[in-house]
Amino acid sequence: SDTVLQVEDLRTYFRTDDGVVKAVDGVSFSVRAGEIVGIVGESGCGKSVTSLSVMRLIPSPPGKIVGGRILFQGKDLLELPEKDMRSIRGKDISMIFQDPMTSLNPFLRISTQMIETIRLHQGLEAKAAREKAVEMLSLVGIPSPHKRIDAYPHQFSGGMRQRVMIAMALSCNPKILIADEPTTALDVTIQAQILDLMKDLAHRFGTSVILITHDLGVVAGMCNRVHVMYAGRIVEEAPVDRLFVSAAHPYTSALINSVPRLDKPRGRRLFSIPGQPPNLIDLPECCPFYPRCPKAMDVCKRAYPPEKVLEDGHTVKCWLYAEEGSR
Ligand code: SF4
Ligand code: MG
Repeated sequence: SDTVLQVEDLRTYFRTDDGVVKAVDGVSFSVRAGEIVGIVGESGCGKSVTSLSVMRLIPSPPGKIVGGRILFQGKDLLELPEKDMRSIRGKDISMIFQDPMTSLNPFLRISTQMIETIRLHQGLEAKAAREKAVEMLSLVGIPSPHKRIDAYPHQFSGGMRQRVMIAMALSCNPKILIADEPTTALDVTIQAQILDLMKDLAHRFGTSVILITHDLGVVAGMCNRVHVMYAGRIVEEAPVDRLFVSAAHPYTSALINSVPRLDKPRGRRLFSIPGQPPNLIDLPECCPFYPRCPKAMDVCKRAYPPEKVLEDGHTVKCWLYAEEGSR
């Protein structure tokens, strides 16, 4: 098949003084060649922990991947020795973050950082690696890239820095790019430019993208398929067009209704759903959304809802859709 990544029943827990936080608790999804897959949810829902788990970058302790499989090119990444995983990171699977300064070294010129990565993963000579780096900077729209490549990270604006990150992330032609809130820190115009750029380059290089965001508006313009996460689990999955016209899960509907609308006065544009996400310590076996759900029923407090396939590629975990009799 054309599946490039398959995550099965991933569980990533964190040990804290107050108990075990089940940040990711049974997450499954797949990524096909060339597609852009969204993982969306409020902060703390487990979406970043999911992506860090795929990269095997969970700080341990206190974190630990306690179960599941992450299949990439026929191998379970969770079983690879760290040495093999290190060669996959940056080469086959790369990642960009909201703040490029978390992955750029402020004391090294961009050229040094890019050339090192390219030499390490592609075995190019210094001169060829520099040419490749300049070419990538030019592709992401850095003006005069052959000069700017010798600048330091702080000499770029926020938007330009994010372009540099994208150039670095794609310089080894990875199969998968994981982008965790890549544009959240940028203003709206720059955000749109960066997203367009990512989409265009992913298409051009045939790179699959996992886009992590709290913003369904970002998902709408970028993704082929979307996974909605709540309290450490995926509660709905659908092709993006379908999600916006027939969202099934009450949480998804709430997210859609909270997408900032430019036709509303300023103060009302803020993202908010009444109530708080649940504490992920000692989460009872119930639907974790029920305290905030306008459609909650008695059964919702008694058990976690089973997964229901509504149609091909559209699944939901909510008691509203469970078979009669299973409630
Ligand atoms: Fe709401 Fe119940 Fe569905 Fe949970 S299972 S989202 S509480 S209706
Ligand atoms: Mg996050």
